[in-house]
Amino acid sequence: MLTIRDLTKTYANGVRALDGISLDVPRGMFGLLGPNGAGKSSLMRTLATLQEADAGTVVLEGADGRAIDVLREKDLVRRQLGYLPQDFGVYPRVSAEDLLNHFAVLKGLSQRKPRREVVEGLLHQVNLWAARKQKLGTFSGGMRQRFGIAQALLGDPRLVIVDEPTAGLDPEERNRFLNLLAEIGENVAVILSTHIVEDVTDLCPTMAIVNKGKVLLAGEPNAAIEALKQQVWRKQVSKAALPGYETRFTVLSTRLVGGQPVIHVFSADAPEEGFERVAPDLEDVYFQRLREHARIVA
Ligand code: ADP
Repeated sequence: MLTIRDLTKTYANGVRALDGISLDVPRGMFGLLGPNGAGKSSLMRTLATLQEADAGTVVLEGADGRAIDVLREKDLVRRQLGYLPQDFGVYPRVSAEDLLNHFAVLKGLSQRKPRREVVEGLLHQVNLWAARKQKLGTFSGGMRQRFGIAQALLGDPRLVIVDEPTAGLDPEERNRFLNLLAEIGENVAVILSTHIVEDVTDLCPTMAIVNKGKVLLAGEPNAAIEALKQQVWRKQVSKAALPGYETRFTVLSTRLVGGQPVIHVFSADAPEEGFERVAPDLEDVYFQRLREHARIVA
């Protein structure tokens, strides 16, 4: 659906935000996971034709099967693209229905009747029908993000890009939002950029982990989890002993359970007495890749 090859971008300040990114994004939900500063937004903005890359290619399979050169045929891409940016701002004094209608006009839906049908359909789809007359300034974070999805879906895009959409949502809003994304992902390619591992675990059949402008892993979460099998160990330790463990072992994560640190360690064999083997999850995969990468570049 979307083929990215050797994409690079260095900003004027010398930061190499994209350092040879190659990815294949199929139809469905694709999770792009990485810490802050990894280069996710730079990649999303490049795919959304909002900024230039220095080198590389991006090809989108269009609705008619034609291959679109994303970096050059920007108008064609924009017609098949929906984008929810990280900092999606809305006009607080305008109602959801009016603003969506306005975006629809901008998207080229010039005839009133079909436009109204599209706008009403989308308001239903994102579950904002009852709130359509409400001013956007009164919306909760989750409602605002669902409105953002409605505007991204105008014009029936083939590719939908959402950048860090669940940050700041409470658990219920987050669930509702992710369910909405999953429904959309049945028909189009949705790239979900996030630093929240659970967003990907819950929802994405394919994914990539990025950091410092590079792809550290790409594929299916389950296969990546399977590859760590038997190699993740767990132990409850004291806070005072924690730094010692961090120097002696590859500590993947530290979680407080009842106020006590519980560590996950990556190791082929039992690290020492008191550790028990645990079934790895995607968070272990994520931190193992980040640690490994940090070790290689150090
Ligand atoms: P992420 O979305 O994963 O947090 P970004 O793509 O925003 O990552 O940033 C990647 C790197 O590029 C960071 O080091 C960031 O500071 C830098 N960066 C992002 N945008 C710009 C810009 N416009 N000018 C200079 N540096 C930037």
